[in-house]
Amino acid sequence: MADVQEAFLHEQLLERRQRLETALTVSRQNASLQQLLHEVDSALERMQAGTFGICETCHDTIDKDRLISDPLVRYCLDHLTASQRRALEQDLELASQLQRGLLPRQSLAFAGWEVYYHYQPLGLVSGDYCDVVTQQNGREDIYFALGDVSGKGVAACMLMSQLHAIFRTLIASGLAVQALVERASRVFCQSTMSSLFATLILVRAERSGEIEVCNAGHCPALLLQGGKVLELGATGVPLGLFCEGVYPTQNAEMACGDALLLYTDGVSEARSASEAEYGTERLKDFVTSNPGLSSQALVGACIDELNGFRAGAPLLDDLSIMAIRRVA
Ligand SMILES: [Zn+2]
Repeated sequence: MADVQEAFLHEQLLERRQRLETALTVSRQNASLQQLLHEVDSALERMQAGTFGICETCHDTIDKDRLISDPLVRYCLDHLTASQRRALEQDLELASQLQRGLLPRQSLAFAGWEVYYHYQPLGLVSGDYCDVVTQQNGREDIYFALGDVSGKGVAACMLMSQLHAIFRTLIASGLAVQALVERASRVFCQSTMSSLFATLILVRAERSGEIEVCNAGHCPALLLQGGKVLELGATGVPLGLFCEGVYPTQNAEMACGDALLLYTDGVSEARSASEAEYGTERLKDFVTSNPGLSSQALVGACIDELNGFRAGAPLLDDLSIMAIRRVA
């Protein structure tokens, strides 16, 4: 574990110790508080001894995301007790329900736009971020967001929900897209551990067909226009890498029938049984040869195509695809 992270957790533990002692001055005989204090002290001792973050059963390193969310853990996932395992499963199930509750409606038509998405976590929870926000204060703008938080499991899921809250708040403030993403990056940067980041595409679409796209280190968006596919690649680094990141946007005009496809690297980096990577080129060829589909049909066709390519090979990552189409 990086020294910076251990220093951060050390500070966290000292703070928690302080709070426990304060609570214990009021309720001296509280056995569960005393037990927690004992566990905090033993974690501090492990840091001193250099054995912090090492499973006490197999001596493998414990996943750092788990340590960040609970610095008191002493066992890797393979060596939890039955009751610890049950508690973890219940937590994951709850996190999964909360996360599903954050997703927008799967199919939506608004101000001349039609959107549909497919959101598929690898496990119970996903590090992919997916949202659609309509703004009705006069302008009728609609925002589409798709992103991918580094890491996996509950830590990634928590950051995903943080991104959701940040963007919902900033979109409501009516900031321009570039300013909005720059602000989001600063907020995200200041509130996450240094090693975590998120790639993301944010699109603002107007009733007129005008779109503004900001790609922060994410896979290129594919703009399907008149039988051709245009890639809208990254113009900035992933969110959370640098507090002062700059995020220029790209503009395009979409006509009726044009579509925009957003996806996470769970799609482009999917593998076949023979370990071949699916890749952006294959996706571009596929969408070029399937023009004129509705958003829902396009997403469905992409999923079928990907499943055909994988031919039963396991998914390796969370997977999300969103199609946005301009309609009459
Ligand atoms: Zn272990």
